[in-house]
Formats: sequence, C-alpha cells, structure tokens
Amino acid sequence: MDAPFDTVIRNASLPDGRQGMDIAIADGRIAAIGPALAPRGRQEIDAGGDLLTPPFVDAHFHMDATLSYGLPRVNESGTLLEGIALWGELKPQLTQEALVARALQYCDWAVAKGLLAIRSHVDVCDDRLLAVEALLDVKRQVAPYLDLQLVAFPQDGLLRSPTALANLKRAIAMGVDVVGGIPHFERTMAEGTESVRILCEFAAGKGLRVDMHCDESDDPHSRHIETLAYETNRLGLQGRVTGSHLTSMHSMDNYYVSKLLPLIREAGVAAVANPLINITLQGRHDSYPKRRGMTRVPELLAAGVEVAFGHDCVMDPWYSLGSGDMLEVAHMGLHVAQMTGQHAMRACFEAVTAAPARILGLHGYGLAPGCHADLVLLDAASPVEAIRLRAARRMVMRRGKVISTTPRATATLDLPGRPAQTGFRLRSPAGLDAENT
Ligand SMILES: [Zn+2]
Repeated sequence: MDAPFDTVIRNASLPDGRQGMDIAIADGRIAAIGPALAPRGRQEIDAGGDLLTPPFVDAHFHMDATLSYGLPRVNESGTLLEGIALWGELKPQLTQEALVARALQYCDWAVAKGLLAIRSHVDVCDDRLLAVEALLDVKRQVAPYLDLQLVAFPQDGLLRSPTALANLKRAIAMGVDVVGGIPHFERTMAEGTESVRILCEFAAGKGLRVDMHCDESDDPHSRHIETLAYETNRLGLQGRVTGSHLTSMHSMDNYYVSKLLPLIREAGVAAVANPLINITLQGRHDSYPKRRGMTRVPELLAAGVEVAFGHDCVMDPWYSLGSGDMLEVAHMGLHVAQMTGQHAMRACFEAVTAAPARILGLHGYGLAPGCHADLVLLDAASPVEAIRLRAARRMVMRRGKVISTTPRATATLDLPGRPAQTGFRLRSPAGLDAENT
C-alpha cells in the first residue's frame, strides 16, 4: 500500500506540553497530529522526544541596516540618537547590491535558526528609496523559504523630514505592507501626536496595518502610545496596530500606567519589546541605579495585551552583536522582565513564536491540521529548556521540506571516571544524574 503521507515526524514534544506526538505531513501542510499515527510516511523522521515547534517569528527588525556594523564607523556613545546619526552618515554610501547581499546573508542565518517570518522596518527618508527597492527584491527572493513583511519607516521623522510623507506613500505604492512612524523623534510632542493621526488615517484609508516605533525613550512624559490607542479606536483599526518599543512606559508614573494599560487593551493595540536593544540603548543618561528601559511586559500581558519580543538589530549602528537567534531574544527578555515563573517562561517562548505570528497576521501558522508544515525541531525537551540552552535547531522545515539541519550540541570530554561526551540536557526529569542514582 502506498504511504498516504509525504512525511511523518514521530515522537515529538509540543510547546503546549503534549509528548509522544506524531505529525503527518502531506502537500506541504500538516495532515494529522496524534499519538502513534498508524499510516506511514514516505519519509519518517524520529524526533526522539525533542521539542517540535512552529517557526520563530521576529515582529521587529531592520534588515536595511543589518550586518553593516563598523560602516562607516562604530557607535561610541551607544545611544539611540548616535545610532540614528550614524545611519544618516551611512545612508548616502549604500548601494542596492550591498544591501541585498547583507539582507540575504542575514536571511541565511535566520533560516538556520528556525526564524521563518520577519517584520522589517525599511527607512523611507532617502529620496532614492534605494533600501525600499532592495528589500522588495529580497522579499521576492526569500519568499520560498521566509515571509518578509515590510514597514515603511520614516526614520528621520514624518514631519521633521520634508519628504518623508511623500516617500512613505511611494513606498506603500511600490508594495511595502505596513505603515510605520516615529512620533518621539518629531520636533515637539504636538508634532508627534499629529504624525500619529496622519499615519493612522492613511493606514485606515488604505486598509493597512500600522507598526510605529513609539516612545523609544527614557522620558516618562513620552505618551504617544496613548494617542496611538486613541486613533486606533477612533478609526476602527483594532487588532491591526502595533506599538514597538514603548520604553518610556518603564519610567512612567504607576498611576498613569494603571489608566493606560486598559486603553491599550481596549484598542487591541499589540506591543513589541526589543529586550536586547532596550537594555543596551536605554538608561544611557542614568548614573546609578540605571533603568533597564524595557516596557512593562508582565503587566501588559496581565492586562490582556498581545506582546512579542523582537530582535530589532543585528550588527548595525545600534547594536554590535546578534545572530538571528530568537531564543537569545527570549532569554534576554525573560531576564530583563524577571519572568522566571514556569508560566512566565513559557510566555517568553510564545513571545517569539505564536504571539508575533498573530501580530504579523500570518496565515496557516501553527500546529494544527491544515497549517503549513513549517516546523522547527529543537535540541530541547520543552520551551523552557529551549530558552535555557538557546537550543540547536536540529531541523528546520518549510512547507514540508527540510531546509536546514544543525547537529545537537555535544562536547567530547577527557575526564577521569566521567563520560566521554556530554550534552547540556538533564538526563532525568528529577534533575538527577540517572547513572549515579
Ligand atoms: Zn526598531
């Protein structure tokens, strides 16, 4: 009898805690999930009890700047504002070929790390729109293996930069997906408010999603998120708007936040924190104690707000490190937000998988029959262990096809009376070394 499925993955653990599950795949989609599925696949993959998850999703990135670290110089102060100035120096020197080459290299890294969907902002404050053209080209090239969603981002300010609004509209006409903004970088609080109104009205008119850099500042009086929630409600954009960063909320008065969180929830505005970047860029004007800067993630979650962790930057004018590893992002987010309870740690895993998938509006994402067979097999038994180890991606699958593999993390030892090899996973659930009990 012919095998009815293309592939069956056997004995996987799933992020919701189910163990010993088989996943059958046909025509690039998940056909069935259950314990000990009887029909065989033409290809059989033994997960060995490891964690099988839908792919990682990055809700906030800058692919036009990535891998440009050191060009034309490095950020000495480490501040957001020097990073923006540095990017301004680099912009005139950019070429489309170099932009595309760097972005494609980053996408290779992303795929190897099981990161198969990225929302990237693209700066529209260069009248040539060179980066827009380059990233639209990259989007077409990577489409078979990675979903790239682009945000038209007026880096130098929608009202502060004379051609930004016209350029943003051109970028959307060229095929950019989402309307961006940066109200805290406008000249005044009033112009910031005005920019939010203009951009939300434009998005509503076009039926587009909105994702603004919002209140990326240590200034507790930066309250553009309040305006963003208000305009979202007024224009009927609920569920389509994201506030990125929201770092000023870290420094806001607690009473004001107690009013603000329900307004964000009511408007269905999602929040994206960028832990690696927030902990690096914020608090730079503090002596001690130094603020962490990241927005109030546990409180937003408790208020019922959708929250994702984004990578934001990898080797660019704002951040010198990173490799496209969303488990590293979740790891930092967990620490900065002190989300150390079991439920909270699992929420950190969700913040780099299912939550950003909902924010991007990805279709067919998930672990259910009918979803795309886009899957990542990790060298870990659970989401918490995956974060602890920044676990190796044993296998990355897109539409049912294996597109990347990485060996388990194993060290060879030469120690008296000890095993010849060790991984980094506990060998018994009780946390005891099984060989010694
Ligand atoms: Zn950003």
